[in-house]
Amino acid sequence: MPAKSPAYRLGIDLGGTKIHAVVIDRKGRILGHARTATKGERGYAKVVERVARTAVQALDEADVRTKDVKVCGIGAPGPVDAARGIMHMAPNLGWAQKPLARDLGKVLGLRVALGNDVNCGALGEVAHGAAQGVDSAVAAFVGTGLGGGIVVGGTVVNGAHGYGGEIGHIPSPFGDALCGCGQRGCLETVASKTGVVRMINEAVAKGVKAKIPLDGVLKSSAIIQALADGCPATKPAIDRLVEALAWGLCTIGNVVDPEVYILGGGLAEALGKPLLPRIAAQMAETSVLYRRQAPKLVLARLGDDAVAVGAAVASGTAA
Ligand SMILES: [Zn+2]
Repeated sequence: MPAKSPAYRLGIDLGGTKIHAVVIDRKGRILGHARTATKGERGYAKVVERVARTAVQALDEADVRTKDVKVCGIGAPGPVDAARGIMHMAPNLGWAQKPLARDLGKVLGLRVALGNDVNCGALGEVAHGAAQGVDSAVAAFVGTGLGGGIVVGGTVVNGAHGYGGEIGHIPSPFGDALCGCGQRGCLETVASKTGVVRMINEAVAKGVKAKIPLDGVLKSSAIIQALADGCPATKPAIDRLVEALAWGLCTIGNVVDPEVYILGGGLAEALGKPLLPRIAAQMAETSVLYRRQAPKLVLARLGDDAVAVGAAVASGTAA
């Protein structure tokens, strides 16, 4: 077996609330997986131990030994310095400048390839998910925020400072709402579930009678139900999201001209297939690039496994 193509790969998705580890084979089949709560409040060192334990559980389930994987891939929630294995920051965990690759590597006895979680998700979809075999892809994950990943030549674009693919924070012409990053008018302030909820609340404040529960955390399923019920506050908010997301994809498209766009994340997946022709039509209106040929859009297919699978794929290229 050639050393550069390990038979098994270990990948971890380190999230703000959960840790998810998978072991995959060359075809991307999941042979073992394990999941545990992150418990970030216990501090960095304890989380590193929990990550290592979860990884070992996934290896045990797959009946694969640590020495058979050589490298462990991990996708972390924030910008990273992939070459030095350092997490610049993780707002959800309250971390800054943590040498995660070195520290996890010590506990696991493996080399660790560190990546940004959303970029890993994009790579996972290109390697084993919705966009298999393409050379270039742009992925947009529409959930609480708007994450993105860009794959060119089969490799994810991390960028010099770990900010590659951060499409959510493109300054957009869709208002000046305050973004979680501190800037105003970022694309994410419209093209995300948070943005949709904000726009629904603004409509209600102006006297529109919403047919959607506005207390507590709004789930994507509640937004879909409100659309089906003809909620007069929800429909324009989703129309605006479509317009903003298409604008964002065209903005990246004019730079990258990818073979395919992948749409994922909780809200995009809840909106489902009908979202694709709507985005494509709006992109044709927005960019000269798509006036003659329609953009190719697909829905993400790996769901919750995308980041861990992508991290495992990235570990293979680092082996
Ligand atoms: Zn922002």
